[in-house]
Formats: sequence, C-alpha cells, structure tokens
Amino acid sequence: MTLECHVARGMAVASQVKSGMRNWLLSLLDLLFPPLCVVCGRSLEPGRVRVGIRWAGYGLCSGCQGAVPWIRPPICPRCGRPFALASAGGHLCGDCLLHPPPFDSARALMAYRDDVVSLFHLMKYGPRPSLARFLGEMMGRAFGEEIRALDPDGIIPIPMHPRRLRRRGFNQASWMARRISKHAGVPVRERLLVRTRWAEPQVRLPRTLRIRNIRGTFGVGRGKEVSGGCWVIVDDVMTTGATAREAARILKRAGAVEVHLRTAARVL
Ligand SMILES: [Zn+2]
Ligand SMILES: [Zn+2]
Repeated sequence: MTLECHVARGMAVASQVKSGMRNWLLSLLDLLFPPLCVVCGRSLEPGRVRVGIRWAGYGLCSGCQGAVPWIRPPICPRCGRPFALASAGGHLCGDCLLHPPPFDSARALMAYRDDVVSLFHLMKYGPRPSLARFLGEMMGRAFGEEIRALDPDGIIPIPMHPRRLRRRGFNQASWMARRISKHAGVPVRERLLVRTRWAEPQVRLPRTLRIRNIRGTFGVGRGKEVSGGCWVIVDDVMTTGATAREAARILKRAGAVEVHLRTAARVL
C-alpha cells in the first residue's frame, strides 16, 4: 500500500469518530420527524408501520423490504448473476466461462426491476442526492465487511462527465461510495478514474451500441497511480455491464492487480 493510501485511510478513520455526534443528532431528527418509506411513501412513525431499514431521515418499511428483489445466493462468484437453481453455485456461469469479464468480482444489492426503477429515477432525476446516500448505506451494510476483507487500496466511484455533473448537480456513485467507505474503512479515491470524453447516455442506446459508445471514455487521472493496487468500483446500476467492463479494463491496463465492482442494482 502506498503512503498516499495510508494517509487517506487515516482520514477515513478520523471522520468515523466525528460522525458519532452527527449520528446522534440524526437519530433525534428521525424521532421528531419520522422518515417516509422510500418505496411506498408511508410514514415510518414508531408503532404505526413496521420499519425494515431506517437511516438518517430515510427508511424502508418491513413490507417494502420484503418486496425488494434482493439478489441472494447462489450466485456466479465472478459476475454475481444469481443461478436459477437453489442447488447451483460454486462454479462460474456460462457467460463468465465463455467471455471472462475484466473485473474479478461483481455484486449487486438488488435486481433492477419495475418495483424499484422509480426509486432510482427519483434519485437521479428528482434529483435526490440523499436517496443515493441511503442506497449507499444499504450497500455499506451489505458489502462493507466483505470489502474490508478484500483489503483494497480504495473505492472508486464511476466518474461522471463534467457536463453531466453540472446538469445533475451530483454524482450518485460518489455519494454511494462515501457511505460504503464508512462501513468498509476504505478511502474513496475520486479522481483515480476520469472521463476523457463525452459519451451519449447508455440508456438511450441499444445493447449492441453500448460497448462502442463507452469505449475510450475513461482514463486514469493525471499523476494518479493505480498500478499494483486492488480497487473497488462503485456504480448505481449495472445494465449490460459495458460501463463496468470498460472501467475495469482501463484500470487493469494501467496495472491494477484486482478490480471489483459493487452496484446498488443490476439488470438480470
Ligand atoms: Zn414501504
Ligand atoms: Zn458469471
């Protein structure tokens, strides 16, 4: 681990200590102003609706928590795709055997299905940065320990082109990465990966054009070193995987030893 990584990790630990006071204040605010369920919008007032997950002014009622399409094992150990048969597992899926992805592992919290799409739309186009923090908190709770065990050098949010960042006002991947960082005790490294050119939004393109559209849009930040490191890329949704593959390819080409991917949701 480089000296720069040691310093960044020290800063992450220091901010954890400071956040104790902040968490106490947020709990008090939660009590005074009960949060709303992010999916059904019902008030999470104590005694009225059973709370599944609650954090900093946001929450998920137990009913909606049960309805979220969480991705659970058995999954492909490489790409994280769930296997249809409960008895399957412990082996790579056909896709990974035929076309090994450039990342070492990919995991997603939930399937990107109709019942959660509106949540992501509200976050991005609302825009509601605090929803990205809530999703990041859920990702941190789910993946924090496992990321800590990987002992990576940093968490890298998928960068947004400056033009899109100005338009939206925030990069949801960065907000998620910061919450994951708190749980994993691993620093966020914002400018290691940068956008080197504009790409049309992937959602507007058919699957076949997505790879061509994203090719060459990432680069390693000027003066940054990724060589020899283990990195965790964070993004909100994995659709075809074209963006994740390209980001991982660039990091590996620059000498990264391991690249892992964690997203809030993925299309199955
Ligand atoms: Zn609900
Ligand atoms: Zn696979």
